[in-house]
Amino acid sequence: MNISCELIKDLAQPYFGGRVSEKTAKLIEGHLEECDECRYFYSGRRSVKTPHFKVEFSEPEEEQIALNLSRLSKRLQIRRTIGTVLAVITAVLGLSALLYDLISEHKK
Ligand SMILES: [Zn+2]
Repeated sequence: MNISCELIKDLAQPYFGGRVSEKTAKLIEGHLEECDECRYFYSGRRSVKTPHFKVEFSEPEEEQIALNLSRLSKRLQIRRTIGTVLAVITAVLGLSALLYDLISEHKK
């Protein structure tokens, strides 16, 4: 059954008031999973009233982007740290190889 967005939005108030049947709630939730517009409409209302039925909403787009950005910068930071550590290790290895050469040269 295809439900119109208008109907879904009309049902927001009773839905958050817990005044819809479980079947209706399931229909609404099913629609929300597929419809960005209605999901946005519902997620904006979520904070006003605690829904009677527990619904998993995905994060609003902006929060998602901010989250992704912070994850990305964290990942970049880790990569940078690894790069620095590798550079230090390479430098130490090179230096010790050089020292080893110098010392063995000295012993001859
Ligand atoms: Zn819709």
